[in-house]
Amino acid sequence: MSSNSLNASIITIGDELLIGQTIDTNSAFIAREFNKIGIWVRRRVAVGDVKEDIRQALDEERKQSQVIVITGGLGPTADDITKPLLCEYFGGQLVVNEEVKAHVQYLFEKVYRRPGAMLERNLKQAEVPDVCTVLHNARGTAPGMWFRPPAGRGIFISLPGVPHEMKGLIKDEVIPRLLKEFDMPAIVHRTAFTAGLGESMIAELLKDFEPTLPEHIKLAYLPNYGMVKLRLTARGNNKEATEKELLPYFEQLLELVSEYLVTNEDEGLEIVLGKILKTKGKTMGTAESCTGGNIAQLITSIPGSSAYFKGSIVSYANEVKENLLGVKTETLKTAGAVSEETVKEMIRGALDNLKVDYALATSGIMGPTGGTAEKPVGTVWIAVGNADKTETMQLNLRFDRRRNIDMTTANALNLLRKFILTNG
Ligand code: AMP
Ligand code: MG
Repeated sequence: MSSNSLNASIITIGDELLIGQTIDTNSAFIAREFNKIGIWVRRRVAVGDVKEDIRQALDEERKQSQVIVITGGLGPTADDITKPLLCEYFGGQLVVNEEVKAHVQYLFEKVYRRPGAMLERNLKQAEVPDVCTVLHNARGTAPGMWFRPPAGRGIFISLPGVPHEMKGLIKDEVIPRLLKEFDMPAIVHRTAFTAGLGESMIAELLKDFEPTLPEHIKLAYLPNYGMVKLRLTARGNNKEATEKELLPYFEQLLELVSEYLVTNEDEGLEIVLGKILKTKGKTMGTAESCTGGNIAQLITSIPGSSAYFKGSIVSYANEVKENLLGVKTETLKTAGAVSEETVKEMIRGALDNLKVDYALATSGIMGPTGGTAEKPVGTVWIAVGNADKTETMQLNLRFDRRRNIDMTTANALNLLRKFILTNG
């Protein structure tokens, strides 16, 4: 894909990235945004707050790419050396930029409301190399900088490391300027989201379809938590024509995976489930033991979920399962908290107490401790139900605690989705 497209390199700066204290999420964000507009990120490089290392990275990357994005090292403290270094690298002088100065003053006076807290070093943020174009940072004091050195090729874009400031600059300043600067190819994605079949089995279903795709249409498998996203990406010169060209291939793909299809949009299960409930005018609630409210959290992260989500009883301890959900002492004693019987009774309790049309319940051993020979770590029971019927599912997970919780959440949402579609 890299041969005839516009190439970019991302240089992230900061000792914290190299010692594993901060995870480099900036590169992932920039790569995603660039990919959307047809810029191929060819390399990602991380260097410490060390002048020589930054200089070397710049020298290297300008040989590789036409666009070089740099993040980090623009703060007001002594360890932030990117700005003077770039100034020197491109042969400029640091001069006060009146607009940036006014913006820094405005932030301290009107937004932070702490004019007295503004220090000399904050005002230093208004000093920028006289050989760059300033990119307005609406979210912070450090401006972005756009360099186009007269000799050689390439555009260098320096952005602050703080993720939300960097994101704002990419969207508001960098992308629009790049679109003006270069003729980008049209890149069109269509995504199908399947559940219930592993990646290799899906590939079996598509083994005759894949070879029929033309060179400029690519199929990607993106497995996650037992679900597989299938993304078709087409490249062309014109967006509408490319969309039109992609459509029959996408329809064919949907047809081939129809039995396992969750949605033909790039959206999560919680959104799909929400849409179904909204359309049907029904409500739901959860009784969560091993997921500890994670399912409720995910559902309520969707704006408008109050239309169908009523609440959750996080019943972690047995006494809460008994007192708030009416799970029988006898059941907990004989079958245990992690059992089909218990999650079934949790469903009854949730339906009665939350007064919802559908309930979802989870109970399991998430690890790393708490397993027994009979019920090892990763044993999970899920139930979904309405007033007439309950359905259950057992999982045997083998991941770490966090992933086990996420796997249980995804499977529970999918089980409820299917239950509602089948049982009305
Ligand atoms: P800086 O611009 O170097 O002062 O960085 C400011 C903050 O942004 C620091 O707290 C960093 O941890 C964070 N940060 C810097 N670079 C990155 C990156 N590549 N990904 C995520 N966070 C970052
Ligand atoms: Mg830094």
